[in-house]
Amino acid sequence: MDIGEYRLEKSTDLYDIKVSRWVCWCPVFTIKGQNAEVKDFGDWDDIEPHREDKPEHGCGNMTFTPKPATQKVLDKYGITVDEYNEIASVLEDGLSFGYCGLCS
Ligand SMILES: [Zn+2]
Repeated sequence: MDIGEYRLEKSTDLYDIKVSRWVCWCPVFTIKGQNAEVKDFGDWDDIEPHREDKPEHGCGNMTFTPKPATQKVLDKYGITVDEYNEIASVLEDGLSFGYCGLCS
């Protein structure tokens, strides 16, 4: 499947995140080379799944809401609170994009 451009593509020494433009998934998200889960950093949901003007096959308003760091998640990835907050804010910027045109 050709997923086209990424809506978010960011790589640092700490993490690597690529989020496709057309579907609400995050095909690449690693921290220090280890597979990471978005849900460890917050809730990513369609907060308006029933809005009337949303695309027929799409999401109404995809929004990422960061949650505070827990020791469990910091230990899981071996990161500091500052690093956690940095990643959570990148996810918030990249994953709170509202409409999506292609999934349901
Ligand atoms: Zn979607």
